Amino acid sequence: MQIPKLWLAALVATLRLAAAEPSHSYVAVHCGTLLDVRTGHGMHDAMVLIEDGQVRELGAASQVRPLHSEKTVDLTRATCLPGLIDVHDHLTYDATDNGYESLGISVPRETVKGVKNARLTLKAGFTTVRNVGADGYSDVALRDGITAGEVPGPRLLVSGPALGITGGHCDNNLLAPEFHYKDNAVADGPWAARAKVREVIKYGADLIKICASGGVLSKGDQAGAAQYTLEEMRAIVEEAHKLGRRVAAHAHGTQSIKDAIRAGVDSVEHCSLIDEEGIALAKQAGTFLVFDIYNHDFIMQEGLKVGMLPESIEKERNLGTLQRENFQRAFKAGARLAFGTDGGVYPHGDNAKQFALMVKLGMTPVEAIQTATVNAAELLGWEHSVGTLEPGHFADLIAVEGDPLADITQLEHVKFIMKNGAIVKNEWQAAAR
Ligand SMILES: [Zn+2]
Repeated sequence: MQIPKLWLAALVATLRLAAAEPSHSYVAVHCGTLLDVRTGHGMHDAMVLIEDGQVRELGAASQVRPLHSEKTVDLTRATCLPGLIDVHDHLTYDATDNGYESLGISVPRETVKGVKNARLTLKAGFTTVRNVGADGYSDVALRDGITAGEVPGPRLLVSGPALGITGGHCDNNLLAPEFHYKDNAVADGPWAARAKVREVIKYGADLIKICASGGVLSKGDQAGAAQYTLEEMRAIVEEAHKLGRRVAAHAHGTQSIKDAIRAGVDSVEHCSLIDEEGIALAKQAGTFLVFDIYNHDFIMQEGLKVGMLPESIEKERNLGTLQRENFQRAFKAGARLAFGTDGGVYPHGDNAKQFALMVKLGMTPVEAIQTATVNAAELLGWEHSVGTLEPGHFADLIAVEGDPLADITQLEHVKFIMKNGAIVKNEWQAAAR
């Protein structure tokens, strides 16, 4: 059948019109100061132009002029900086889910907790989170719900269940043998571990989390003792990297930290008992170290009350202090550090409280901020979209009232949050109403 020429012309004209007038959204943010987190330099009276959720242009307000009739957000009394990133979080766990109580929590229930905690974490100024360990695939479901715009939350990079040895930190050792219980991703031996890497990727993992050594909140293991062998970790890393996924290794123990780095993991989590050689190896390999130094105080003060096992409190007592000392050593030696807090061990939304401790232990405020922005983005492999505000990056922007470089605790009171160009929270506007 021949289509009449007139119809065809009308159709082409309609299509052209549709192509010429896509609906774009524009927003301008006018900042009193815009902090460049790479340099620590603050640009006064700055304008950020945002198109369709991405930064289009930024600079001095006198130079950067809105081209369209942008809605301008007035943050002229505030300091703006990129949205923060926590690279070690457990959004689907609550700080009250410990010991035998935790056995009564189903995966669907965990997912619902994740919805609550994702919102709390976003409202604390964390616009990107790496979730490293969740039961079932509750974190995958949460990520997909956030991506679909169904529930609010940070951009998520998720691991699904964490891989570990039988009876290790990433197994669950609470039940008697007759229950025959094994945790989601227990895998012993290089080939079983490779198969498990393939399986968690099949079901949606963006990265692989493994337990290289024992841990604090697990029953019957020693935090400093090695669990996965070098051979097993090499197999895991090779398989994960081949499939385009990075590997995060939980490791408190001195030997496990070194084995994990030698196996080629992308980050070591906790790092409590890292020694000089471990720090040197991490520097040489470019491995990121993630010291979750804040939660120690919560475990010591509240742990028993929230159902943590007495043995866990004893393990943490020694480990926490050593971890803080080793954080200082690693930082002074120039190791690459990324900001991770182990949210879920302590209440979600308090993530930013770790900054003050980092500064107390010797970092400058801008160095502490870099761990949660540029460094964290690089660890995630998302350095071209998050971690700094520059053209082409997501418009993930937060603002605080004072100067975070003079008072780092300003980050505990984030008053304005924008994710992907959409305002999540604006306390100034709420107050003006
Ligand atoms: Zn953790």
